[in-house]
Amino acid sequence: MITPVTSVPIPAILEIKNGVIHQLGDILEKHQFATAIIIFDPFTYENFKEDILKVRTSINIETLILSSNLDIQDLIKKAFELSRYDVVIAIGGGSIVDYGKYIAFARRSPFISIPTSASNDGFASSNCSILVDGKKTTVPARVPYGILADLNIIKHAPSRFVLAGIGDLMSNITAIYDWEFEERHGKSFVNAFASMLSKKAVNSFIRTPMTDIKNPILLKELISSATMGGISTAISGNSSPISGSEHLISHALDKIAAKPAMHGIQVGIATYIMANVQNHRAVRMRKVFERTGFFQYVKTLNLLKHEFATAIQMAPSIKPNRYTYLHDPTYQAKALQFLEEDPIINELLK
Ligand SMILES: [Zn+2]
Repeated sequence: MITPVTSVPIPAILEIKNGVIHQLGDILEKHQFATAIIIFDPFTYENFKEDILKVRTSINIETLILSSNLDIQDLIKKAFELSRYDVVIAIGGGSIVDYGKYIAFARRSPFISIPTSASNDGFASSNCSILVDGKKTTVPARVPYGILADLNIIKHAPSRFVLAGIGDLMSNITAIYDWEFEERHGKSFVNAFASMLSKKAVNSFIRTPMTDIKNPILLKELISSATMGGISTAISGNSSPISGSEHLISHALDKIAAKPAMHGIQVGIATYIMANVQNHRAVRMRKVFERTGFFQYVKTLNLLKHEFATAIQMAPSIKPNRYTYLHDPTYQAKALQFLEEDPIINELLK
């Protein structure tokens, strides 16, 4: 019997360019959406309502402003209070895009994400990170129907958001290596296409000139690579192509750190650690983080080494069903030793 060809959901709209926010009306019309709800956070509402809401009147657009720290119950309630819209749109950073994605998923509506920064890959991924019983939890949803990334908006976000995006993207390298490790130990199957896509995404970014992180070419690479990473998770049906031991360290930090840093920043530091533990592309990793100013920025944060040590120890328990390098006690010990001895880590962390 011939194996059926897998069908993969991909965004029908993918616009990454300057000023695309002004074309929202045309895009909605082209895709025959007659009614839409646009979800903002208070900040994006203040800053972008005029740009977004001056779209043509042939489309019936409602707005909804959501504050942060909503949990899954609040979102389900919101989702079913709303009337029926042809499309749900969210504009903002990580949480608001996740809220919109989840509401759209609950209502079985198409979803369009308009990220205002490149700080993580959530705007393109098939799942979202939402509070369940007070804990940030990865909840399945769907790949967005559309992604509109306006480089004009994204380049005006503070540099730390770009650096966080770079940290999150570089983690594809360690994540894929973990996934292969897991397969060698009989604990998982690597989907070859998902793995290839995630690898190509990060490699394409690595070849981009990096001295100016606000350069539109770099931003475009970052966004399109993160989008490819998001699609790779829809192919594999799990987050393994873009999330391995380095993400477990970051999830653990979110639970135990007195002041957790941005997701992509924590992930980036953990990626540097794990690349050295895996002994795979560690030099390249260091160069990217030096050239982009990532390390320089991390030094200003006063993050604590002992919290990273605890997070490395906790990491396997975050996802007990996985088998990353950190699930192997030998490599976990190597990570702890690297944390103690590496001169760069000792400059970055207190
Ligand atoms: Zn991530």
